[in-house]
Amino acid sequence: MSQSESVMNTYGRLSVAFSHGEGCWLYDIDGNKYLDALSGIAVCGLGHAHPAVTQAITEQARKLIHTSNLYGIPLQSQLAEKLSSVSGMDKVFFSNSGAEANECAIKIARLYGHNKGIEQPTIIVMSGSFHGRTLATLSATGNQKIQAGFEPLVQGFARAPFNDMSAVQQIIENNSNVVAVLVEPIQGEGGINIPDAEYLPALRQLCDQHELLLMLDEIQTGNARAGHYFAYQQHSGLLPDVVTTAKGLGNGVPIGACLAKGIAAETLKPGNHGSTFGGNPLACAVGLAVMKTIEDENLTKRATTLGEYISAGFTAALKDSGCLNKIKQQGLLIGLELTAPCTELAAIAKDNGLLINVTAEKVIRLLPPLIMTDDEADLLVEKLSALIKNYFSNK
Ligand code: PLP
Repeated sequence: MSQSESVMNTYGRLSVAFSHGEGCWLYDIDGNKYLDALSGIAVCGLGHAHPAVTQAITEQARKLIHTSNLYGIPLQSQLAEKLSSVSGMDKVFFSNSGAEANECAIKIARLYGHNKGIEQPTIIVMSGSFHGRTLATLSATGNQKIQAGFEPLVQGFARAPFNDMSAVQQIIENNSNVVAVLVEPIQGEGGINIPDAEYLPALRQLCDQHELLLMLDEIQTGNARAGHYFAYQQHSGLLPDVVTTAKGLGNGVPIGACLAKGIAAETLKPGNHGSTFGGNPLACAVGLAVMKTIEDENLTKRATTLGEYISAGFTAALKDSGCLNKIKQQGLLIGLELTAPCTELAAIAKDNGLLINVTAEKVIRLLPPLIMTDDEADLLVEKLSALIKNYFSNK
């Protein structure tokens, strides 16, 4: 089914539309079922129609959906406290999407710079990164395809290759306007790029030395996906100054959050930033239900064990096939880097009842729901391995 001409043509869409879902399964409008190994791009970590999410939405919708940030919002306070206690941050600003959460982080960094007397504050960002589609976040993004046609870009970003400490160090040494580093702990859109274990701790140290804010974009990696509530928590004792998240926090209900600590948490003052919808009672009720479910069902641990299980399955199935370059995996962020471009595989998989994504041309990106069972994981490995082998044998 194709999208109406009335919808702006901003997405290359596959020809399918879904009517409902349950757990890891989606059903199209003709009744065909699909195993969802993408979770709406890392959004539906609890799968589809999770009872805790449905209950939170329906109960809150019956009571109160929206008031305004001109008034107190108890559920927003509760969610901010919960996020702060889980992350080690001090304060939260709520938005409605990932890009907006990053806009908040960028504004914090700039104001932090201005407060220090730096008039042209610069944020170091990375090659291959993705931070969103607003003007500031696409300017921060390390992908020229996303920027093309939207020049002039927002100024105040300096770019280093991902996972390259000496490049970051060099920028800092040559530019006294640097105020912050913005980085994904694992690059998602860039092709599941996992940096060396020392990278984040070394960035933390460098930021401390130069009084820079370390700002982590955990929009894709957060909310248990990488095997910790936030991916940076794999490094014990490491705390960023700013963390952004969205996607999995609402399981499909739009919500984003910019968390900050210390001086970064005190930077924005009344009148500096805002959002009409951000942190409304409905979104926060759902965020609380999602966080409680992640905790109750121990889904951070499940992401670790299931991710390893799936990765081992693909290794066994594809190791001698000649199709697989390497598997990049942490928790339920899984990238199967194949030996040749394979963008068509997303459509082929869809036609075979499986939802996957291909990014960076030859990386199959799998972001399965955190609640996937072992049997469903076996089916994913079996089906997708067969499709990959068949695709390469016909190439
Ligand atoms: N940052 C990262 C790391 C993302 O993966 C995404 C979305 O894919 C974004 C930011 C943008 O989030 P949104 O599409 O909710 O604006």
